Amino acid sequence: MRFNTKNIHYFFKDIDKNFHPVILPIYLSSTYKFKSAEEGAKRFAGKDKGMIYSRLQNPTNLLLEKRLATLEEGEESIVTASGMGAITTTIFHFLKPGDCIVAHSVLYGGTMEFFSRIITRFGIEVIFVDFKDLKKLEELINNSNLVKLIYFESPTNPLLEVIDIQSITKIAKKKKIITVFDNTFSPPPIQYPLRFGIDIVIHSLTKYIGGHSDLIGGVIIGKKTLIKSIREKTHYFLGNCLSPFNSYLALRGLTTLNLRVKQQSETAFKLANYLKNHSKIERVYYPAYNLLAKKQMSMFGGVLSFEVKGGYEKAKKLVNSVKLINLAVSLGAIESLIEHPASMTHSEYTKEEKLRAGITDGLVRLSVGLEDYDDLKEDLEFALRKI
Ligand SMILES: *Cc1c(COP(=O)(O)O)cnc(C)c1O
Repeated sequence: MRFNTKNIHYFFKDIDKNFHPVILPIYLSSTYKFKSAEEGAKRFAGKDKGMIYSRLQNPTNLLLEKRLATLEEGEESIVTASGMGAITTTIFHFLKPGDCIVAHSVLYGGTMEFFSRIITRFGIEVIFVDFKDLKKLEELINNSNLVKLIYFESPTNPLLEVIDIQSITKIAKKKKIITVFDNTFSPPPIQYPLRFGIDIVIHSLTKYIGGHSDLIGGVIIGKKTLIKSIREKTHYFLGNCLSPFNSYLALRGLTTLNLRVKQQSETAFKLANYLKNHSKIERVYYPAYNLLAKKQMSMFGGVLSFEVKGGYEKAKKLVNSVKLINLAVSLGAIESLIEHPASMTHSEYTKEEKLRAGITDGLVRLSVGLEDYDDLKEDLEFALRKI
């Protein structure tokens, strides 16, 4: 089965065998009956596939898990209450005091905060390196036996740098180090990190997959054995479970993922080209201009960043002057969103971290929605005239 067909039809029949609805109902039950004490005992022993309790399993979540695993070409997945929930659950599962994580120096703001100021309290060291410098990364890994996990994103947020996924998994495999990749910025059919040897793929469902700015959710995807172990040993007890309401919204959003990202990628590329030639813009960041991106991505997504000449004052004026585009954080939604990374999404970064990540005061991030290109261009043109 091909991408769109799988996305719409897959696995549904296995879950509701009674009424044959076209859409799976939202299962709100928090708990599930056992036919007998023996059956209950079997479920707890993992010898019966039936449900026990909705923090552990839920039919609506089960359908979403099967669809997301299939879309990413993984074997299984776990849906979580948020993208951060997927990240924290995965990290807590794989690491113990004394272990070390090696991460790319530019990460989602919340992940950066978790890595540099929370996980370190549990005796876990995090080393940040520029993953574009493969030699340095390999050296670091060869010189330490404490590195248990490699963590990164590509393209990065907010500068859309592209990291060579396959080269990094090759380095990791030599030392049997787990690789965890946040694919929120480039969901299928844009990029398939498991094809390049990644062990665990994470998404914030809040962004492209949900797509309509009406839910918070996350997912962890990978091989059956790894996911089973995360689910049973860690996920069940951290309380990061997704609400079935949000699960339903994510299922609904997922069906149009392909159409949305295609349109968003097309409009974003046109806007990037328009901004590139504008006299008040210093620089535009968009993956389409990168050769490596062409190798590992089939489209380039709806997010672009640009540096306005004149620093914070001008960037502030620009985001205050757009009328159609929403001044809001988040991305991947049907409505376009604009924000100022240095004072908003990446404000948790220290001065040095900002410098290292290239987040300047004039930088603006734009997530392109499904509005018409000409309207978005005119809105930006209007705001740029004001600065
Ligand atoms: C939004 C985002 C997250 C966090 O997801 P939440 O659903 O907000 O918890 C993680 N990684 C990336 C790249 C994101 O954009």
